[in-house]
Amino acid sequence: MGKRVESRELIGAEAKLDKARREKAAIDQKATLVGTFRPPRYDYRGARYGDLLVQWLNEPFKRESKKPTKSVKDVGRERVSALIEAMKHLNNIASSPERLRDVVQVVINDLLKYHAEHLVVFVNDRGDIVVESQPADQVVVGGKIKAGAAEEERRAVNAVKLLTSMHLLDRVRLCQCGCRRWLYQTRTGKRAEIFYEEACRKKYQAHPRREVA
Ligand SMILES: [Zn+2]
Repeated sequence: MGKRVESRELIGAEAKLDKARREKAAIDQKATLVGTFRPPRYDYRGARYGDLLVQWLNEPFKRESKKPTKSVKDVGRERVSALIEAMKHLNNIASSPERLRDVVQVVINDLLKYHAEHLVVFVNDRGDIVVESQPADQVVVGGKIKAGAAEEERRAVNAVKLLTSMHLLDRVRLCQCGCRRWLYQTRTGKRAEIFYEEACRKKYQAHPRREVA
């Protein structure tokens, strides 16, 4: 008897958990819609990587309290932001004199020095020996030992790499309103999105010249 009550309670708890999960998924989907101005059922070119990238870059805006000091993740985000800008710049000057390109390439390669990897070996659940590359915690940059790029940053840079190879990196941009949030444009030409959300457009149209920090 006692056991049955217990299992019924367990089922009830699981149902509650399921409901909470569904609600959270609905909220997440809504949040995606707000950020991207588009229904989630369409598969836009590069959006898989673009969304992953901008969501990670925009993460600090979800924080409730602002930390006065930068975290390792914040430093990583700054690096990836700088990398995106530099890569776009390199694309714009691709047909410029080699010397000019070299300067930008040096900047990009300096940013990529944080992405060192090392190999690790382990035996998995099935008893197979697996050799894998993992991000190095510490890297030597400019003769100094610094924190290396973590897994999330590595994924973000991989998205930058893939979007660059697909000629789609230009679609990753900062919101026009100046809120410092990133967005991935799914449309091109006149219909290309330039605002993160509707509120940004309204804010910008009310005060178009003011640079909102
Ligand atoms: Zn904005």
